Amino acid sequence: MSSTGVAGARSTLIAWLPCLLATIWIYLRVLDVTPYLPINHFLLPLAFAFTLAYLSAVLGGQVRQAEFWANTDAMTGLGNRRLLERICELENRQTSERYATAVAIDLDKFKPVNDSYGHAAGDAVLVAVAEKLRAHFGGRGDIFRTGGDEFLILGYHWQSRMDIITQANAFLQASLAPLHFEGNYISVNASVGIAFHDHRIGFAGMLRQADAELYHVKSSGRGGIRIADQRQRERRSSEPVIFADNDETDDRVARMFGTSHRG
Ligand code: GH3
Ligand code: MG
Repeated sequence: MSSTGVAGARSTLIAWLPCLLATIWIYLRVLDVTPYLPINHFLLPLAFAFTLAYLSAVLGGQVRQAEFWANTDAMTGLGNRRLLERICELENRQTSERYATAVAIDLDKFKPVNDSYGHAAGDAVLVAVAEKLRAHFGGRGDIFRTGGDEFLILGYHWQSRMDIITQANAFLQASLAPLHFEGNYISVNASVGIAFHDHRIGFAGMLRQADAELYHVKSSGRGGIRIADQRQRERRSSEPVIFADNDETDDRVARMFGTSHRG
């Protein structure tokens, strides 16, 4: 906070310095200390223009910074719930066709991490999870921390659905790798629910379905992925549950959607 104050004072000083120097120069001309130059007539307006331009740039930067932090989870640097709500509002008003997939994630038994190793350890786990999400979904979608140990990825529509599912599976495997924190090795698992956008259910429906699938994974033992079966009810043949603990996931997903469902 204090460094922001110092930076603000420095910016103000820099902004007004040309005006101050031009005024001194012109007053010294009255005492015949400074020479007469034709540009003397324009010095003050020029200095004032610089001040206005500089202050506008500083203010613009501060507004952009404030906007960034209002939409960012300070601990992980991911998008926060406020940003997600704004996106929901815009998408519900008129879909941008930007997002095709919602991946809802909740860490399993995260409270015991706080209880056993302390809140700082819990925070370190959340930051490590955010890093893993960036590693797996960066460039494939927008990543949010929507609550305590809850995350959401909105996959871009130009990414193949299969790729998002494969990355969700890879993330799940990676999340099991223990984190070394103050002499302890902490491992967490996660549950994942995935849904796809279609015009019948809309953007909000896609989020609801991803959440519902996540809830199903939680209530059926945690530690897996479940993908919403968005075919018409009468065409459904089996429960769309995929667990991440084997290498056949991709094949099973491919069989479920068929290779033509890419993109
Ligand atoms: P479940 O397997 O059913 O998901 O249970 P859980 O133990 O993971 O707990 P749950 O998801 O219901 O609640 C999340 C917990 O995360 C609650 C709170 O103790 C903890 N938490 C929330 N925010 C933070 C945070 O910023 N830092 C830390 N260290 N812990 C947090
Ligand atoms: Mg949890």
